[in-house]
Amino acid sequence: MTPKSSGGPRELSVQKIKGGTVIDHITAGYALAVLQILGITGREGDILLVAMNMQSKRLKKKDLVKVEGRELTTEEINRIALVAPKATINIIRDFKVHHKERIAVPDVIEGIVHCANPSCITNNERGISSSFNVVQRNPVTLRCTYCKQITSHDQIINQLLGES
Ligand SMILES: [Zn+2]
Repeated sequence: MTPKSSGGPRELSVQKIKGGTVIDHITAGYALAVLQILGITGREGDILLVAMNMQSKRLKKKDLVKVEGRELTTEEINRIALVAPKATINIIRDFKVHHKERIAVPDVIEGIVHCANPSCITNNERGISSSFNVVQRNPVTLRCTYCKQITSHDQIINQLLGES
């Protein structure tokens, strides 16, 4: 289990985790939003590594999060897609990448966020959950299936950060 130095001198050496999830290629500056969305505070006692504004070939800058002891569900991956649509998910088992998942922003988002229109039926009738068509993917912009109101990326971020 000798760590290989794969990168040049500019590459930051980050501790490996035994098992859990590595979320890579997070939009620079959004690592903390991802943690909020996942409800991770760092007080759980598991190893949590957060690196922000790192150099990236694919993106100019990126954030990176390593979470020990937790494999993300599809629902959690969908939530991350709302703030970091280019993120990649590596599930780690026994210090190795067990499998990778590229985040795909779904065509339809149900639940997760509320419609921006306060008088929308989904905000007023119990039992009717929100439902949106994705009209733009990066940054993600949603249109309500019911009232057609647009919920902007900023509104999504504010909701996710304010409610978790
Ligand atoms: Zn609506």
